[in-house]
Amino acid sequence: MFIDTHVHLNNPQLEANFEQVINDALMVGVEKMIVVGYDLETSKKAVELANQYDFIYAAVGFHPTEIKNYTDDEYQNLELLASMPKVVAIGEVGFDFHWDTTTKEEQLTAFVRQIELAKKLKLPLIIHSRDAHQLTFETLKKHNASKVGGIMHSYSGSVEMAKEYLKMHFCLGISGPVTFKNGKNMKDVVKAIDAKYLVSETDSPYLTPEPYRGQINGPKNVLLIVEEMAKLKGISISEMAQNIKDNVKRIFGDKYE
Ligand SMILES: [Zn+2]
Repeated sequence: MFIDTHVHLNNPQLEANFEQVINDALMVGVEKMIVVGYDLETSKKAVELANQYDFIYAAVGFHPTEIKNYTDDEYQNLELLASMPKVVAIGEVGFDFHWDTTTKEEQLTAFVRQIELAKKLKLPLIIHSRDAHQLTFETLKKHNASKVGGIMHSYSGSVEMAKEYLKMHFCLGISGPVTFKNGKNMKDVVKAIDAKYLVSETDSPYLTPEPYRGQINGPKNVLLIVEEMAKLKGISISEMAQNIKDNVKRIFGDKYE
């Protein structure tokens, strides 16, 4: 019934209790999980997991803070991985100016390179944007990312900008903050935007929803996010979940069943 479109089962924090984490999710009705890479190693791991489990799909990509010494080699490997059958997206890619491990120029080069790869392989993008709303938008627009669209991961921008993203064929990833008392921004987006453009994600092991803030997040908690989304939209949980299923299918297309 539920889909977690953004989970880091490839992160060491979740690898330790892997079977338990998976089983807990299946028990509450999570049907599909998209494991998202953030560097070359975790992208490989995402593909391995997708090959191993029916209900797992992979996204491969280099997160803006992880690209420091990457050369053509890493990008060639990324292209090979992205061509595998169960790889449904390029991600997570984008900008992150909260940390300073990489410069703005390095991040821009890596981002554009991966947007071009997504267009070449006709794969949607999963976008990470932190402290960079305007530049993320401008970069996606300038490089015609609307050709592939994708998901704005854990969308934290305004309702106005959300509407601009919809025009560019992006959907909005709704995550744990929608359950927070101070999560007004994300709540407003869910209320204002048609359910046809919203998807659910946990970003586990990060962004744990209420009432479990402070604990390690797991894909089973996607239920709490869909519950809150349904409440905000004034529809049933099953109706919200069905919308999300349809949206995910539309975004990921043929490589996702
Ligand atoms: Zn993530």
